[in-house]
Amino acid sequence: LNEDPSFWKENNIQVIIRIRPLNSGEISQQGNNICVRQDSCQSVTWIGHPESRFTFDLVADEQVTQEKLFKVAGVPMVDNCMAGYNSCIFAYGQTGSGKTHTMLGDIENGTRRHNTNCGMTPRVFEYLFHRIQKEKEIRNGEKLQFTCKCSFLEIYNEQIFDLLDPTSTNLQIREDLKKGVHVENLTEVTVSSARDAMQQLIQGAASRKVAATNMNRVSSRSHSIFTCIIESKWEIQGIIHRRFARLNLVDLAGSERQKSSGAEGERLKEATNINKSLSTLGLVIMNLVSNKKSVHVPYRDSKLTFLLQDSLGGNSKTLMIANISPSYCCALETLSTLKFAQRAK
Ligand code: ADP
Ligand code: MG
Repeated sequence: LNEDPSFWKENNIQVIIRIRPLNSGEISQQGNNICVRQDSCQSVTWIGHPESRFTFDLVADEQVTQEKLFKVAGVPMVDNCMAGYNSCIFAYGQTGSGKTHTMLGDIENGTRRHNTNCGMTPRVFEYLFHRIQKEKEIRNGEKLQFTCKCSFLEIYNEQIFDLLDPTSTNLQIREDLKKGVHVENLTEVTVSSARDAMQQLIQGAASRKVAATNMNRVSSRSHSIFTCIIESKWEIQGIIHRRFARLNLVDLAGSERQKSSGAEGERLKEATNINKSLSTLGLVIMNLVSNKKSVHVPYRDSKLTFLLQDSLGGNSKTLMIANISPSYCCALETLSTLKFAQRAK
């Protein structure tokens, strides 16, 4: 695994493939039950017909722990925010491929010192507050202050729901000069420690589960975005400086083809919306990668990309973790994820 920090400096968009382990059901099947072979820490071969080889910034197999993945991929994203730039981490992949494991992991049994299974988000909190503390110690002559606010929302069927205030539904995206693109009336909670942030994360994740049960909002069909807004203020020779950055942690809707054939009414609308938001995200990232300034970037085509507009492109860093299953039964979805991720390269 490449821990060289310059690995990230060259490019503002990084794509990582994460291969989850086979589960016990998949292992018990007879015969050749694998659809991918890792060739190196940057390439993977899909072993169907025809065999196809893909190259990425990093291919993380099942040996790569939550901690390792965070060190390699999460740390630079937090550092980027501490430097005043926005960052986005996306987990992409079919349902069951490991998106939530990657982004949240085990959030019930404490954070990282005690829990090796906790995922990217809890580790981001710990490291973020560690960095803030260090920064304050180093720059103690500058009256340095940090304010960190969190929000947590779900986009389901092109509607925005506030996971920190479940009574608040169908929120609207607004754009103005002062706040840029933002969600009107979205709850923002000021947090002053990793533990505070964790509490919001757990509460929001629980609301998401309740909504899935009571409102029939199938969570594999929704995107969730946890955002930390980091504001810093300091003084040098009587002049006040301010910095803002947003760190967006996104667990995307399952990328499996949402069948519109046979679906009717709400389900049909849902399928169309998921396909649309993921393909728009793909287009947006592809355009950013190709660096053609003249190409129209269709941010407004979906709530997801519209909302993240200020955090994609420019000086922002984007990390796409494309999760795949190595199981033969998932071969076609795995191929489609590899192709999606390749386009983002
Ligand atoms: P998704 O959110 O994409 O639907 P999950 O994160 O819920 O998928 O993962 C499905 C199952 O596989 C879960 O039981 C999860 O714990 C397990 N899993 C996924 N990725 C890994 C991994 N890298 N190591 C161990 N278990 C994993
Ligand atoms: Mg999930």
